[in-house]
Amino acid sequence: MAEQFDVVVIGAGPAGYHAAIRAAQLGMKVACIDAALGKDGKPALGGTCLRVGCIPSKALLDSSRQYWNLQHLFGEHGISVKDARIDVGAMIARKDKIVKQFTGGIAMLFKANKITPYYGFGQLQPGNVVKVKQHDGSEAELKAANVILAAGSDSIELPFAKFDGENIVDNVGALDFAAVPKRLGVIGAGVIGLELGSVWKRLGAEVTILEALPDFLAAADAEVAKTALKEFKKQGLEIRLGAKVSNAEVKAKGKNKEVHVTYADAEGEKTLVVDKLLVAVGRRAATRGLLAEGTGVKLDQRGMIEVDEHCHTGVDGVWAIGDCVRGPMLAHKGFEEGIAVAELIAGLPGHVNFETIPWVIYTEPEIAWVGKTEQQLKAEGVPYKAGSFPFAAIGRAVAMGEPAGFVKVLAHAETDRVLGMHLVGVGVSELVHEGVLTMEFKGSADDLARICHAHPTLSEAIHDAAMAVDKRAIHKAN
Ligand code: FAD
Ligand code: NAD
Repeated sequence: MAEQFDVVVIGAGPAGYHAAIRAAQLGMKVACIDAALGKDGKPALGGTCLRVGCIPSKALLDSSRQYWNLQHLFGEHGISVKDARIDVGAMIARKDKIVKQFTGGIAMLFKANKITPYYGFGQLQPGNVVKVKQHDGSEAELKAANVILAAGSDSIELPFAKFDGENIVDNVGALDFAAVPKRLGVIGAGVIGLELGSVWKRLGAEVTILEALPDFLAAADAEVAKTALKEFKKQGLEIRLGAKVSNAEVKAKGKNKEVHVTYADAEGEKTLVVDKLLVAVGRRAATRGLLAEGTGVKLDQRGMIEVDEHCHTGVDGVWAIGDCVRGPMLAHKGFEEGIAVAELIAGLPGHVNFETIPWVIYTEPEIAWVGKTEQQLKAEGVPYKAGSFPFAAIGRAVAMGEPAGFVKVLAHAETDRVLGMHLVGVGVSELVHEGVLTMEFKGSADDLARICHAHPTLSEAIHDAAMAVDKRAIHKAN
């Protein structure tokens, strides 16, 4: 006999656990199934984000940043430390502790919200039935009026550079190196390549990133990308653009192994020899085995679940959210979809505004944006005004020794409504939310310019950039 629920969620990542908790808050009887195991071999809720994504990468970014600052920034403050060393084991153990705290936190939240967890692999059957192959070998059958598919994503593997967990790795391996690799190669100068490349660079690895496209960070505002590239190069990150990789071969070198990577760029064919190779060329929906025959749920050519703007699959009572559906693969996008779907099921007006989803890349300097880039506005023929302001003229940033970068505000030329905000610099992962709020409230550049910002703070760069839209920034020539 199938156990009956109001809502069954497959996947307890950011999208799935938000949906489960919100549905439970709204009075529904909820089950949530997740197949993942933690490093200790025990079930771990929270998905890619908590286990091998957002949280562990930020833990390592923070550890490595402290080490880098100690060597490169502390001196100018008059602080000197002799014989600074990095204990990679201790750094990884700290990261693992944080991961455990947060994955365990989801289990506690499930308990507090009376959500029934199932640990194993879930498959949707026709008629809103879900079969679960549990880790203890048993099978469970669940039935629900509504099933939410939140299966997330996996790393894309290149056919000529298969992951071996040792020398050729994805994010999972690169978050767990036992020692700093002398030479780290990265395929893909995207978000993961830049964040994890930065971690190991700061700890002393020689890092070379091979990117197929001729442009760096093509999705970001072109000026932001240019400034970031300049800063990354200053830090010693070697980024080779227009590099088409064709092969990666692990070869023995004495007692060790190294990876020979063949690629071609404008100058012809080249070989890069590294100790570890991180492949970070994007992620794909983890929908393999998720759907039994005859469910009626459709996948597109890339394996993503097809949904409408409300995350409905078109099959009665079946929804899909997060990385396994269209839209940016971001944890907070999944959060919002999870909440919206739970609310729609409860008859409330759930909604996600895709126009105001912020992007953040947690490098040094950080990169963040919301809304349209100048390239997009030009291509769409939207008349706009731009105002920008450098952190080098912001007292707080200079006092912190972090003068790199700027804030740019884009506003409609006629209505002054803010259409985008683009930031590169210290702390911009937090600052970007001024742009999100302004856009959500349909505010103008003039609104931002007339809002009092405390002095001295980094957020003054937003204030001055908004004033610069009308050429009235106080702290620079307009
Ligand atoms: P997932 O987090 O992938 O969770 C899906 C869960 O479902 C998994 O636990 C999986 O085991 C389970 N599952 C799948 N199929 C089944 C099944 N059939 N039965 C049972 N269980 C199943 N995003 C940000 O916004 N900010 C960041 O800083 C950031 N950093 C990242 C860093 C790295 C290294 C990586 C890899 C990703 C990062 N992301 C970041 C992206 C973010 O992790 C994802 O967008 C987010 O985790 C997607 O959430 P989700 O719930 O859709 O899927
Ligand atoms: P990505 O899409 O950000 O970058 C992949 C890069 O690899 C692209 O620049 C692409 O042109 C390049 N590429 C693709 N094939 C290639 C090849 N054969 N040779 C050389 N270069 C190649 O993907 P990612 O870095 O793997 O990250 C996956 C997703 O995870 C991101 O899109 C993002 O949604 C999410 N993520 C977000 C954050 C964050 O929000 N801070 C952090 C990490 C990951």
